Amino acid sequence: MDALDAKYPFFGSAREAVAEAAVSLPELVAADAPAVERARERVERALLEGTVAAESGAFPGESASDTQAELLSYPIARILVSLLDSDPAIEKYAAAEAATAMERVRRDLETDDELRSVSSATVGLDDLLAEFDLADAVRPDATAPAGVRGGPGAGTAAGASGGTGGGRDPDHYRIDVGPYLRLTSPEWGDSWRLVNRALADGAVRVSREELLAALEAAVEARVAEGLPFELGADEEIAAALESRVADLRRLLSERTYAEPPDVVAPALFPPCMTNLIEKAERDAALSAAESFALMSFLVGIGMTPDEVVAFCADTSLDAEGIRYQTEFLTDDRGTQYPPPTCETLANYEICHNEDDHMQVAADPLSYYEKRVAAAGDVTDWRDGRETDGANEA
Ligand code: SF4
Repeated sequence: MDALDAKYPFFGSAREAVAEAAVSLPELVAADAPAVERARERVERALLEGTVAAESGAFPGESASDTQAELLSYPIARILVSLLDSDPAIEKYAAAEAATAMERVRRDLETDDELRSVSSATVGLDDLLAEFDLADAVRPDATAPAGVRGGPGAGTAAGASGGTGGGRDPDHYRIDVGPYLRLTSPEWGDSWRLVNRALADGAVRVSREELLAALEAAVEARVAEGLPFELGADEEIAAALESRVADLRRLLSERTYAEPPDVVAPALFPPCMTNLIEKAERDAALSAAESFALMSFLVGIGMTPDEVVAFCADTSLDAEGIRYQTEFLTDDRGTQYPPPTCETLANYEICHNEDDHMQVAADPLSYYEKRVAAAGDVTDWRDGRETDGANEA
């Protein structure tokens, strides 16, 4: 098992490394090996934050045992996702694996060519194209300015002669129309529609960034392939992972609510949410669970992604992360996740049950709803309008 396999665990070589390794996934799971906790983190961060990178920032390959745990966490994460048995969760998971992989690819491509040639833990564009059987389908655009083609990073497929001189990858490529249509979607915007592209000799001209976007789609499809799978004979794995699956389900608990009050009154927020906001305002980073709890609460009280971004403008939360998370929480495929219950938030040490008000409500939205109802007229943070809280509740 090498660092490259751990970094790109969906590669064919990584799959072979797992198959050839003298490790048994059921035994690893039964022994609660580090790969199991990393797999849970992988899925949790994928669903809540759109990344599968370790929260610690540890990079796969820092040590042999890290590398093994990182690589083996991928097949275990696939088992966890299968056990969650939710199509939106599978989509989110595959998209997060792909987004994280392409972040790493971009960093690899920016690695100095000389360093890349001595490091086995980086990929070039040619490696990626070959991995997805695109080596013959993608080539540098012949109209690219002379002198910028054929650097080592462009490799055999993209760079034709590969390694002919110190240039970077070209800015534009031609991709055969079949793979183009398979890997891209008109839903990405009008510019992706075939009618709006330069098409010649059966190939479409794309920029380097567009090619990377198409490759991200290829990674996503590879990760999603075969999910969810039946565990069949591996039922003991399912039993051993039961508590972790239950944790993930609880965190994403799909409970339904009576319409919560559509009013933003920060003074009436429950203490757990106020504490999280104050923590973020002190510029402290929120954990994945904290950030998810806060975002799902703000979305749950009717705030749009733009409003949440504005509301959190002076905090440690970055706008891009807020947008990803709030859009995920408000998507229209039945995946709206209300904030976790008070009990779950207590398990994550987010709730300290001030004044024992867990007796009053079982979750932050219900508690807020009661406070708004009791307050009567409240000022809405969004527009300063007067709202009759009693009627909203
Ligand atoms: S009891 Fe519930 S609403 Fe109150 S602080 Fe704890 S998690 Fe928040």
